[in-house]
Amino acid sequence: MDTLIIGCGFAGTTVARVLAERGEKVKIIEKRNHIGGNCYDEYDEYGVLVHKYGPHIFHTSNKEVYDFLSRFTKWYDYSHEVVGNVYGKIIPIPFNLNTLMIVFGEEKGQQLKQELIDTYGKNARVPILELQKSSSQGIQEVAEYVYENIFLKYTMKQWNQKPEEVDQSVTARVPVLVSYDNRYFQDPYQGMPAEGYTKLFENMLDHQNIEVILNRDAKDDLTFDFENHKVYYLGKEFTGKIIFTGAIDEFFDNRLGQLPYRSLRFDFEHYDQDYYQSKGVVNYTVSEDFTRITEFKYLTGQDVKGTTIIKEYPEVYKDNQQVPYYAILNAENMAMHQKYVDLVKPFSHFYLLGRLAQYKYYNIDGIVEEALTLTKQL
Ligand code: UDP
Repeated sequence: MDTLIIGCGFAGTTVARVLAERGEKVKIIEKRNHIGGNCYDEYDEYGVLVHKYGPHIFHTSNKEVYDFLSRFTKWYDYSHEVVGNVYGKIIPIPFNLNTLMIVFGEEKGQQLKQELIDTYGKNARVPILELQKSSSQGIQEVAEYVYENIFLKYTMKQWNQKPEEVDQSVTARVPVLVSYDNRYFQDPYQGMPAEGYTKLFENMLDHQNIEVILNRDAKDDLTFDFENHKVYYLGKEFTGKIIFTGAIDEFFDNRLGQLPYRSLRFDFEHYDQDYYQSKGVVNYTVSEDFTRITEFKYLTGQDVKGTTIIKEYPEVYKDNQQVPYYAILNAENMAMHQKYVDLVKPFSHFYLLGRLAQYKYYNIDGIVEEALTLTKQL
């Protein structure tokens, strides 16, 4: 075995495939009883393809990433659209010029549109915290609506913090769009794996040089000699590469502190009707305890009787008990993560990769890009 990979999500699987094609023998150790990490999907008891760990929608501007994944799947041509339910009124999200007209009416909407175009330019993407800085009264009015009705309560639910308290990059993921584009993402490549994510992973892992071990916690197999910077696998010194994609704090028994995460609880509901809602995702931006409802049939294009939805309830993460979905980006947490990075640095063949190991807010394409970059360095 040349390389040991901990975790079978997009980070680990991408590296495994590239190295296997180079002729390396790769072993992946996965704690869960399935491949695919949080992108894992499966058919529920009603035959509806659902994402067990919440909706994952692929989109990218990176052609290399798109081409790489396209070797393992065909795509269902899906452009994701989201609407907000604001006191019963349905509005397109991200807030765009269509939303502007719905909220402010045509006449005032046209004036505000002109002001937005004059200030930021056509097709601009303006983060809410940026919009709030405007000195124009009209733009202030737009900013106030967007902040109060789209960001404030949703962000409080999701992070238990106000929009200005979370890292700016988080709310900037959903900017105000100075265009009539109702899509959630503006990337040139978007879509869903035609036969689902799990099938995509099966295809990526289908290589004679890749072995996958499920239901196994790598923590039980690996020991670290911190004095001599040696790693032992099943009691024997292992000098090959180790790509670690799990939660680094938990792996090292929280010895340098427990990294905070935001977790989620998912409630699935099935309905004996064709569709439940008007779009793939409805965000509940001012009401309810859940943040959003996803209806899978829209995402997958599946032709099936009945429909399954998922409600996302943000949860506190403690004692490594829940699933760590989101890193909470702030200076203190990143400093703690850096201590873990420093801890493993002397182990020259030990690499941290992915959302958990790097304590980052990655999209699928970001992880695949980072994994491909790592394989070029190796
Ligand atoms: N957000 C919000 N209202 C919305 C959509 C997003 O307040 O209707 C904020 C919220 O803080 C959220 C962040 O923007 O965590 C990023 O949203 P995104 O949909 O990208 O989150 P993800 O799909 O990664 O959970």
